[in-house]
Amino acid sequence: MSKIAMKTPLVEMDGDEMTRIIWKMIKDILLLPYIDLKTEYYDLGLVHRNETNDQVTFDSAEATKKYGVAVKCATITPNAARMPEYNLKEMWKSPNGTIRAILDGTVFRTPILVKGITPYIPTWTKPITIARHAYGDVYKNTEMQISKKGKAELVFTDEDGNETRELIHEFKGSGIIQGIHNRDDSISSFARACFNFALDTKQDLWFATKDTISKKYDHRFKDIFQEIYEKEYKARFEEAGIEYFYTLIDDAVARVIRSEGGYIWACKNYDGDVMSDMVATAYGSLAMMTSVLVSPDGVYEYEAAHGTVQRHYYKHLKGEKTSTNSVATIFAWSGALRKRGELDGLSELEAFADKLERATIKTIEDGVMTGDLAALSTLENKKSVDTETFLREVNIRLEQML
Ligand code: NAP
Ligand code: MG
Repeated sequence: MSKIAMKTPLVEMDGDEMTRIIWKMIKDILLLPYIDLKTEYYDLGLVHRNETNDQVTFDSAEATKKYGVAVKCATITPNAARMPEYNLKEMWKSPNGTIRAILDGTVFRTPILVKGITPYIPTWTKPITIARHAYGDVYKNTEMQISKKGKAELVFTDEDGNETRELIHEFKGSGIIQGIHNRDDSISSFARACFNFALDTKQDLWFATKDTISKKYDHRFKDIFQEIYEKEYKARFEEAGIEYFYTLIDDAVARVIRSEGGYIWACKNYDGDVMSDMVATAYGSLAMMTSVLVSPDGVYEYEAAHGTVQRHYYKHLKGEKTSTNSVATIFAWSGALRKRGELDGLSELEAFADKLERATIKTIEDGVMTGDLAALSTLENKKSVDTETFLREVNIRLEQML
Protein backbone atom coordinates (compact mmCIF):
# COMPACT_ATOMS: atom_id res chain seq x y z
CA MET A 1 0.00 0.00 0.00
CA SER A 2 1.40 3.40 -0.94
CA LYS A 3 1.52 6.08 1.73
CA ILE A 4 -0.93 8.97 1.84
CA ALA A 5 0.65 12.10 0.38
CA MET A 6 0.61 15.56 1.92
CA LYS A 7 1.08 18.95 0.25
CA THR A 8 1.69 21.59 2.91
CA PRO A 9 3.64 20.68 6.04
CA LEU A 10 2.01 20.67 9.45
CA VAL A 11 3.78 22.75 12.06
CA GLU A 12 4.85 20.12 14.61
CA MET A 13 5.52 21.40 18.13
CA ASP A 14 7.13 18.72 20.27
CA GLY A 15 6.89 18.95 24.05
CA ASP A 16 7.85 17.49 27.41
CA GLU A 17 7.84 14.51 29.76
CA MET A 18 5.32 11.68 29.31
CA THR A 19 3.51 13.40 26.45
CA ARG A 20 6.83 13.69 24.57
CA ILE A 21 7.22 9.91 24.87
CA ILE A 22 3.63 9.40 23.69
CA TRP A 23 4.20 11.86 20.83
CA LYS A 24 6.93 9.70 19.33
CA MET A 25 4.95 6.48 19.86
CA ILE A 26 1.91 7.92 18.05
CA LYS A 27 4.06 8.94 15.11
CA ASP A 28 5.90 5.62 14.94
CA ILE A 29 2.91 3.33 15.43
CA LEU A 30 -0.06 5.17 13.94
CA LEU A 31 1.13 7.82 11.48
CA LEU A 32 4.45 7.09 9.76
CA PRO A 33 3.43 3.63 8.45
CA TYR A 34 0.49 5.19 6.56
CA ILE A 35 1.29 8.82 5.78
CA ASP A 36 4.17 10.41 3.95
CA LEU A 37 4.22 12.79 6.89
CA LYS A 38 5.34 16.33 6.09
CA THR A 39 6.00 18.49 9.11
CA GLU A 40 8.09 21.50 9.96
CA TYR A 41 9.46 20.42 13.33
CA TYR A 42 9.89 22.75 16.31
CA ASP A 43 11.19 21.30 19.55
CA LEU A 44 9.30 23.09 22.32
CA GLY A 45 10.70 20.73 24.95
CA LEU A 46 11.96 22.78 27.90
CA VAL A 47 15.61 21.87 27.22
CA HIS A 48 15.48 23.36 23.75
CA ARG A 49 13.38 26.36 24.80
CA ASN A 50 16.07 27.13 27.34
CA GLU A 51 18.86 26.68 24.78
CA THR A 52 17.17 29.07 22.33
CA ASN A 53 16.10 31.60 24.99
CA ASP A 54 12.53 30.62 24.09
CA GLN A 55 13.02 31.82 20.49
CA VAL A 56 11.79 28.43 19.24
CA THR A 57 8.34 29.13 20.71
CA PHE A 58 8.08 32.42 18.83
CA ASP A 59 9.36 30.78 15.64
CA SER A 60 6.82 27.97 15.89
CA ALA A 61 3.97 30.48 16.28
CA GLU A 62 5.18 32.45 13.26
CA ALA A 63 5.38 29.21 11.25
CA THR A 64 1.79 28.45 12.29
CA LYS A 65 0.72 31.82 10.89
CA LYS A 66 2.58 31.01 7.68
CA TYR A 67 1.26 27.48 7.09
CA GLY A 68 -2.10 27.68 8.87
CA VAL A 69 -2.19 24.42 10.87
CA ALA A 70 -0.12 23.24 13.85
CA VAL A 71 -0.20 20.28 16.21
CA LYS A 72 1.28 20.74 19.68
CA CYS A 73 2.44 18.36 22.39
CA ALA A 74 1.91 19.36 26.04
CA THR A 75 4.78 21.44 27.43
CA ILE A 76 6.08 22.32 30.87
CA THR A 77 5.29 25.81 32.10
CA PRO A 78 8.28 26.33 34.39
CA ASN A 79 7.79 27.08 38.08
CA ALA A 80 10.41 27.39 40.85
CA ALA A 81 10.92 23.62 41.05
CA ARG A 82 11.78 23.41 37.33
CA MET A 83 14.62 25.93 37.61
CA PRO A 84 17.16 23.48 39.12
CA GLU A 85 15.57 20.42 37.46
CA TYR A 86 16.31 21.80 33.97
CA ASN A 87 19.08 24.22 34.93
CA LEU A 88 17.08 27.09 33.43
CA LYS A 89 18.47 30.50 32.55
CA GLU A 90 15.06 32.06 33.19
CA MET A 91 11.60 30.98 34.28
CA TRP A 92 10.32 30.93 30.68
CA LYS A 93 6.70 31.91 30.12
CA SER A 94 3.96 29.44 29.25
CA PRO A 95 4.39 28.46 25.57
CA ASN A 96 0.61 28.32 25.23
CA GLY A 97 0.36 31.90 26.46
CA THR A 98 3.06 33.05 24.02
CA ILE A 99 1.47 31.24 21.06
CA ARG A 100 -2.01 32.48 21.98
CA ALA A 101 -0.76 36.08 22.17
CA ILE A 102 0.88 35.84 18.72
CA LEU A 103 -2.07 34.12 17.03
CA ASP A 104 -4.65 36.21 18.95
CA GLY A 105 -6.68 33.08 19.24
CA THR A 106 -9.61 31.60 21.09
CA VAL A 107 -9.36 28.14 22.63
CA PHE A 108 -12.13 25.60 21.99
CA ARG A 109 -12.28 22.53 24.24
CA THR A 110 -14.36 19.50 23.33
CA PRO A 111 -14.77 16.19 25.19
CA ILE A 112 -14.39 12.88 23.32
CA LEU A 113 -17.37 10.67 24.11
CA VAL A 114 -17.14 6.87 24.27
CA LYS A 115 -19.58 4.13 25.26
CA GLY A 116 -19.00 2.90 28.78
CA ILE A 117 -17.98 6.27 30.16
CA THR A 118 -21.19 8.01 31.09
CA PRO A 119 -21.23 11.74 31.76
CA TYR A 120 -22.42 12.71 35.23
CA ILE A 121 -25.27 14.52 33.43
CA PRO A 122 -27.02 11.60 31.72
CA THR A 123 -28.77 13.79 29.09
CA TRP A 124 -25.41 14.92 27.66
CA THR A 125 -25.23 12.54 24.71
CA LYS A 126 -23.28 14.96 22.49
CA PRO A 127 -20.19 16.99 23.33
CA ILE A 128 -20.40 20.54 24.64
CA THR A 129 -17.54 22.69 23.32
CA ILE A 130 -16.43 25.53 25.56
CA ALA A 131 -14.92 28.61 23.90
CA ARG A 132 -13.14 30.80 26.43
CA HIS A 133 -12.24 34.42 25.79
CA ALA A 134 -8.60 34.57 26.84
CA TYR A 135 -8.08 38.29 27.38
CA GLY A 136 -8.81 40.77 30.15
CA ASP A 137 -11.49 41.06 32.85
CA VAL A 138 -10.37 39.80 36.24
CA TYR A 139 -7.19 38.23 34.70
CA LYS A 140 -5.78 41.70 33.98
CA ASN A 141 -7.19 43.50 37.01
CA THR A 142 -5.90 46.19 39.34
CA GLU A 143 -6.87 45.82 42.97
CA MET A 144 -6.66 47.97 46.06
CA GLN A 145 -7.32 47.39 49.70
CA ILE A 146 -8.77 50.45 51.48
CA SER A 147 -8.13 50.92 55.15
CA LYS A 148 -10.02 54.13 55.97
CA LYS A 149 -12.86 56.46 55.06
CA GLY A 150 -12.71 58.01 51.57
CA LYS A 151 -14.03 58.18 48.03
CA ALA A 152 -13.21 55.67 45.27
CA GLU A 153 -13.67 56.79 41.66
CA LEU A 154 -13.13 55.43 38.14
CA VAL A 155 -11.06 58.00 36.23
CA PHE A 156 -10.37 57.91 32.51
CA THR A 157 -7.89 60.46 31.13
CA ASP A 158 -8.02 60.73 27.35
CA GLU A 159 -4.96 61.55 25.23
CA ASP A 160 -5.81 65.29 25.39
CA GLY A 161 -5.82 65.22 29.16
CA ASN A 162 -9.61 65.39 29.66
CA GLU A 163 -10.92 63.39 32.61
CA THR A 164 -14.15 61.42 32.89
CA ARG A 165 -15.09 60.29 36.40
CA GLU A 166 -17.60 57.86 37.89
CA LEU A 167 -18.07 57.37 41.59
CA ILE A 168 -17.44 53.77 42.67
CA HIS A 169 -18.17 54.11 46.36
CA GLU A 170 -17.99 56.51 49.33
CA PHE A 171 -16.18 54.35 51.86
CA LYS A 172 -17.23 54.82 55.50
CA GLY A 173 -14.50 52.42 56.57
CA SER A 174 -12.17 49.75 55.22
CA GLY A 175 -12.90 47.75 52.06
CA ILE A 176 -11.69 46.63 48.65
CA ILE A 177 -11.75 47.90 45.05
CA GLN A 178 -11.04 46.24 41.72
CA GLY A 179 -10.54 47.72 38.26
CA ILE A 180 -10.98 45.56 35.16
CA HIS A 181 -11.07 46.27 31.44
CA ASN A 182 -11.51 44.75 28.03
CA ARG A 183 -10.92 45.95 24.47
CA ASP A 184 -13.36 46.11 21.57
CA ASP A 185 -10.79 44.58 19.21
CA SER A 186 -10.23 41.60 21.51
CA ILE A 187 -13.95 40.99 22.00
CA SER A 188 -14.45 41.24 18.22
CA SER A 189 -11.70 38.66 17.55
CA PHE A 190 -13.27 36.37 20.11
CA ALA A 191 -16.69 36.75 18.48
CA ARG A 192 -15.35 36.05 14.98
CA ALA A 193 -13.39 33.00 16.17
CA CYS A 194 -16.59 31.63 17.72
CA PHE A 195 -18.75 32.31 14.66
CA ASN A 196 -16.12 30.75 12.37
CA PHE A 197 -15.78 27.67 14.54
CA ALA A 198 -19.56 27.23 14.66
CA LEU A 199 -19.70 27.32 10.84
CA ASP A 200 -16.70 25.01 10.62
CA THR A 201 -18.20 22.37 12.89
CA LYS A 202 -21.87 23.06 11.95
CA GLN A 203 -22.97 23.54 15.54
CA ASP A 204 -25.12 26.20 17.21
CA LEU A 205 -23.32 28.91 19.14
CA TRP A 206 -24.50 30.02 22.59
CA PHE A 207 -23.20 33.11 24.32
CA ALA A 208 -24.14 34.46 27.72
CA THR A 209 -23.13 37.33 30.01
CA LYS A 210 -24.64 39.22 32.94
CA ASP A 211 -25.75 42.21 30.85
CA THR A 212 -28.81 42.95 33.01
CA ILE A 213 -26.54 43.88 35.92
CA SER A 214 -23.45 45.02 34.00
CA LYS A 215 -25.25 47.43 31.69
CA LYS A 216 -22.12 48.83 30.04
CA TYR A 217 -19.37 46.24 30.46
CA ASP A 218 -21.14 42.95 29.77
CA HIS A 219 -23.59 44.73 27.51
CA ARG A 220 -20.70 45.72 25.26
CA PHE A 221 -19.85 42.02 24.78
CA LYS A 222 -23.47 41.29 23.86
CA ASP A 223 -23.63 44.22 21.40
CA ILE A 224 -20.35 43.40 19.67
CA PHE A 225 -21.38 39.77 19.18
CA GLN A 226 -24.79 40.85 17.84
CA GLU A 227 -23.36 43.48 15.44
CA ILE A 228 -20.78 41.10 14.00
CA TYR A 229 -23.35 38.35 13.71
CA GLU A 230 -25.85 40.53 11.82
CA LYS A 231 -23.25 42.03 9.48
CA GLU A 232 -20.96 39.12 8.74
CA TYR A 233 -22.47 35.78 9.71
CA LYS A 234 -26.29 35.75 9.79
CA ALA A 235 -26.70 34.70 6.17
CA ARG A 236 -24.05 31.99 6.43
CA PHE A 237 -25.56 30.63 9.67
CA GLU A 238 -28.98 30.41 8.05
CA GLU A 239 -27.51 28.68 5.03
CA ALA A 240 -25.72 26.17 7.29
CA GLY A 241 -28.91 25.63 9.31
CA ILE A 242 -27.30 26.64 12.61
CA GLU A 243 -28.28 29.23 15.18
CA TYR A 244 -26.64 31.98 17.24
CA PHE A 245 -28.33 32.23 20.60
CA TYR A 246 -27.71 34.86 23.29
CA THR A 247 -29.07 34.56 26.81
CA LEU A 248 -28.31 35.59 30.39
CA ILE A 249 -25.56 33.55 32.07
CA ASP A 250 -27.97 32.22 34.74
CA ASP A 251 -30.38 31.06 32.07
CA ALA A 252 -27.47 29.54 30.13
CA VAL A 253 -26.25 27.33 32.99
CA ALA A 254 -29.77 26.04 33.57
CA ARG A 255 -30.21 25.27 29.85
CA VAL A 256 -26.78 23.63 29.60
CA ILE A 257 -27.63 21.16 32.36
CA ARG A 258 -30.96 20.27 30.72
CA SER A 259 -29.48 20.08 27.20
CA GLU A 260 -28.27 17.08 25.24
CA GLY A 261 -25.06 18.87 24.15
CA GLY A 262 -23.93 19.33 20.57
CA TYR A 263 -23.24 23.09 20.60
CA ILE A 264 -20.51 25.62 21.33
CA TRP A 265 -20.79 27.64 24.52
CA ALA A 266 -18.85 30.90 24.29
CA CYS A 267 -17.81 32.18 27.70
CA LYS A 268 -16.20 35.34 29.02
CA ASN A 269 -12.77 34.75 30.52
CA TYR A 270 -13.78 33.89 34.10
CA ASP A 271 -16.91 31.97 33.09
CA GLY A 272 -14.79 29.93 30.66
CA ASP A 273 -12.19 29.16 33.31
CA VAL A 274 -14.77 27.84 35.75
CA MET A 275 -17.22 26.24 33.32
CA SER A 276 -14.56 24.37 31.34
CA ASP A 277 -13.42 22.57 34.49
CA MET A 278 -17.01 21.78 35.38
CA VAL A 279 -17.88 20.52 31.90
CA ALA A 280 -14.64 18.49 31.60
CA THR A 281 -15.20 16.81 34.95
CA ALA A 282 -18.84 16.12 34.19
CA TYR A 283 -17.89 14.36 30.94
CA GLY A 284 -15.52 12.09 32.84
CA SER A 285 -11.83 12.76 32.24
CA LEU A 286 -9.38 15.54 31.39
CA ALA A 287 -7.45 12.97 29.37
CA MET A 288 -10.41 12.81 26.95
CA MET A 289 -10.55 16.55 26.26
CA THR A 290 -9.27 18.03 23.01
CA SER A 291 -8.30 21.61 22.54
CA VAL A 292 -7.89 23.79 19.46
CA LEU A 293 -6.73 27.37 19.25
CA VAL A 294 -8.42 29.23 16.39
CA SER A 295 -7.28 32.66 15.30
CA PRO A 296 -9.68 35.22 13.80
CA ASP A 297 -7.93 34.89 10.42
CA GLY A 298 -8.43 31.12 10.37
CA VAL A 299 -5.19 29.63 11.72
CA TYR A 300 -5.51 26.42 13.79
CA GLU A 301 -3.36 24.86 16.52
CA TYR A 302 -4.47 21.46 17.88
CA GLU A 303 -3.45 19.94 21.21
CA ALA A 304 -4.60 17.87 24.17
CA ALA A 305 -6.12 19.79 27.08
CA HIS A 306 -4.07 17.94 29.73
CA GLY A 307 -0.48 18.59 30.79
CA THR A 308 2.72 16.57 30.47
CA VAL A 309 1.59 13.95 33.04
CA GLN A 310 4.72 14.46 35.13
CA ARG A 311 3.99 11.76 37.71
CA HIS A 312 3.79 9.08 35.00
CA TYR A 313 7.00 10.36 33.41
CA TYR A 314 9.00 9.87 36.60
CA LYS A 315 7.71 6.26 36.72
CA HIS A 316 8.69 5.87 33.07
CA LEU A 317 12.20 7.15 33.88
CA LYS A 318 12.50 4.46 36.55
CA GLY A 319 11.77 1.89 33.84
CA GLU A 320 8.21 1.17 34.93
CA LYS A 321 5.48 0.72 32.32
CA THR A 322 2.86 3.45 32.59
CA SER A 323 -0.77 3.40 31.55
CA THR A 324 -1.00 6.97 30.27
CA ASN A 325 -3.97 7.95 28.14
CA SER A 326 -2.92 9.01 24.64
CA VAL A 327 -6.41 9.67 23.24
CA ALA A 328 -6.42 13.49 23.41
CA THR A 329 -2.96 13.60 21.79
CA ILE A 330 -4.08 11.21 19.02
CA PHE A 331 -7.08 13.49 18.42
CA ALA A 332 -4.77 16.53 18.28
CA TRP A 333 -2.96 14.80 15.38
CA SER A 334 -6.17 13.66 13.67
CA GLY A 335 -7.67 17.13 14.03
CA ALA A 336 -4.61 18.77 12.48
CA LEU A 337 -4.34 16.20 9.67
CA ARG A 338 -8.04 16.52 8.84
CA LYS A 339 -7.80 20.33 8.71
CA ARG A 340 -4.65 20.09 6.53
CA GLY A 341 -6.50 17.68 4.25
CA GLU A 342 -9.49 20.02 4.06
CA LEU A 343 -7.36 23.07 3.22
CA ASP A 344 -5.25 21.23 0.66
CA GLY A 345 -8.11 19.26 -0.89
CA LEU A 346 -6.67 15.87 0.18
CA SER A 347 -9.70 13.70 0.81
CA GLU A 348 -7.52 10.66 1.55
CA LEU A 349 -5.86 12.50 4.41
CA GLU A 350 -9.25 13.60 5.77
CA ALA A 351 -10.54 10.04 5.57
CA PHE A 352 -7.43 8.78 7.39
CA ALA A 353 -8.06 11.24 10.23
CA ASP A 354 -11.66 10.01 10.56
CA LYS A 355 -10.54 6.37 10.62
CA LEU A 356 -7.82 7.05 13.18
CA GLU A 357 -10.42 8.55 15.50
CA ARG A 358 -12.89 5.73 14.89
CA ALA A 359 -10.20 3.10 15.55
CA THR A 360 -9.27 4.86 18.81
CA ILE A 361 -12.86 4.99 20.02
CA LYS A 362 -13.52 1.42 18.89
CA THR A 363 -10.53 0.18 20.91
CA ILE A 364 -11.98 1.70 24.09
CA GLU A 365 -15.49 0.49 23.28
CA ASP A 366 -14.05 -3.02 22.72
CA GLY A 367 -12.90 -2.80 26.34
CA VAL A 368 -9.19 -2.07 25.81
CA MET A 369 -8.19 1.13 27.62
CA THR A 370 -5.67 2.83 29.86
CA GLY A 371 -6.00 2.75 33.64
CA ASP A 372 -7.62 6.17 34.02
CA LEU A 373 -10.54 5.08 31.80
CA ALA A 374 -10.76 1.55 33.19
CA ALA A 375 -11.44 3.17 36.57
CA LEU A 376 -14.47 4.99 35.07
CA SER A 377 -15.79 2.60 32.45
CA THR A 378 -18.98 0.65 33.06
CA LEU A 379 -18.08 -1.97 30.40
CA GLU A 380 -17.96 -5.49 31.82
CA ASN A 381 -15.17 -6.96 29.70
CA LYS A 382 -12.77 -4.02 30.20
CA LYS A 383 -9.01 -4.50 30.33
CA SER A 384 -6.47 -1.96 31.53
CA VAL A 385 -3.34 -1.85 29.34
CA ASP A 386 -0.10 0.12 29.25
CA THR A 387 0.52 3.14 27.03
CA GLU A 388 2.19 1.29 24.16
CA THR A 389 -0.16 -1.71 24.15
CA PHE A 390 -3.11 0.65 23.78
CA LEU A 391 -1.54 2.28 20.71
CA ARG A 392 -0.79 -1.14 19.17
CA GLU A 393 -4.43 -2.17 19.76
CA VAL A 394 -5.58 1.03 18.02
CA ASN A 395 -3.26 0.18 15.14
CA ILE A 396 -4.80 -3.29 14.73
CA ARG A 397 -8.23 -1.69 14.27
CA LEU A 398 -6.88 1.12 12.09
CA GLU A 399 -5.24 -1.39 9.73
CA GLN A 400 -8.57 -3.18 9.33
CA MET A 401 -10.31 0.10 8.43
CA LEU A 402 -7.71 1.24 5.88
P1 NAP B 1 -1.33 16.91 34.06
O1 NAP B 1 -0.18 16.63 33.22
O2 NAP B 1 -2.58 17.29 33.32
O3 NAP B 1 -1.63 15.68 35.00
C1 NAP B 1 -2.33 15.75 36.23
C2 NAP B 1 -2.84 14.37 36.60
O4 NAP B 1 -4.00 14.09 35.83
C3 NAP B 1 -1.87 13.24 36.30
O5 NAP B 1 -0.95 13.07 37.32
C4 NAP B 1 -2.80 12.09 36.08
O6 NAP B 1 -3.32 11.60 37.30
C5 NAP B 1 -3.97 12.75 35.35
N1 NAP B 1 -3.77 12.80 33.90
C6 NAP B 1 -3.64 13.89 33.10
N2 NAP B 1 -3.49 13.54 31.84
C7 NAP B 1 -3.50 12.18 31.81
C8 NAP B 1 -3.36 11.23 30.77
N3 NAP B 1 -3.18 11.60 29.50
N4 NAP B 1 -3.41 9.91 31.11
C9 NAP B 1 -3.59 9.52 32.36
N5 NAP B 1 -3.72 10.39 33.40
C10 NAP B 1 -3.68 11.70 33.12
O7 NAP B 1 -1.01 18.11 35.04
P2 NAP B 1 0.27 18.32 36.00
O8 NAP B 1 0.92 17.01 36.33
O9 NAP B 1 -0.27 19.19 37.04
O10 NAP B 1 1.22 19.17 35.13
C11 NAP B 1 2.41 18.62 34.56
C12 NAP B 1 3.02 19.68 33.66
O11 NAP B 1 2.15 19.94 32.57
C13 NAP B 1 3.29 21.01 34.33
O12 NAP B 1 4.64 21.35 34.15
C14 NAP B 1 2.39 21.99 33.61
O13 NAP B 1 3.02 23.23 33.42
C15 NAP B 1 2.15 21.33 32.30
N6 NAP B 1 0.87 21.65 31.63
C16 NAP B 1 0.91 21.85 30.29
C17 NAP B 1 -0.25 22.07 29.59
C18 NAP B 1 -0.15 22.27 28.11
O14 NAP B 1 0.91 22.26 27.55
N7 NAP B 1 -1.25 22.42 27.44
C19 NAP B 1 -1.48 22.07 30.24
C20 NAP B 1 -1.50 21.83 31.62
C21 NAP B 1 -0.33 21.61 32.30
P3 NAP B 1 -2.63 10.40 38.12
O15 NAP B 1 -1.27 10.88 38.46
O16 NAP B 1 -3.54 10.27 39.30
O17 NAP B 1 -2.61 9.19 37.24
MG1 MG C 1 -9.23 26.79 35.62
